[in-house]
Amino acid sequence: MGLSRTVRRRDDGWLDVALTGSIDESTDLDALLAELPQGGVRLDLSGIDRLNSIGIHRWIPRFEAFARQRPTTIEGLSYAVVMQTNCITNLFAGATVRSCVAPYYCAGCDAAHAVRVDASEVEPGRAPGKRCPTCGGAMQFDELPGYFQCLLPTRLAGAGPVR
Ligand SMILES: [Zn+2]
Repeated sequence: MGLSRTVRRRDDGWLDVALTGSIDESTDLDALLAELPQGGVRLDLSGIDRLNSIGIHRWIPRFEAFARQRPTTIEGLSYAVVMQTNCITNLFAGATVRSCVAPYYCAGCDAAHAVRVDASEVEPGRAPGKRCPTCGGAMQFDELPGYFQCLLPTRLAGAGPVR
């Protein structure tokens, strides 16, 4: 499975760029990150379902160069990306990570839900409370406490203007 992108220009001049699929040895990152119109980029990674080690090695230098050229924020890290982000500190060098997708579990429905969590909701060592989208009951966070590490550097460094 490859990687695809959708690009949308917002009223504030920023570009919404959503990547979907997997980042691996067959991914042409140059093509995906190049040829974008001028402007800041909000990169949504909630559609990335796989990110392997070869893909990461290629990603890091390209992304770093990319983020140096224009303001870049990251939104909606998927589960697969969070797992890598928490192991590899420079995965998003130069960019601000604003949100991720986190696994929660509703005991009432016996169902798992992937919920978007904003950096502003996260306290160190504690998962933000989330309500079940089906029944409205309180859900349990369903991962290890370090999961939200991917969002914490953003806050500690002091968040800039919210985009
Ligand atoms: Zn429920």
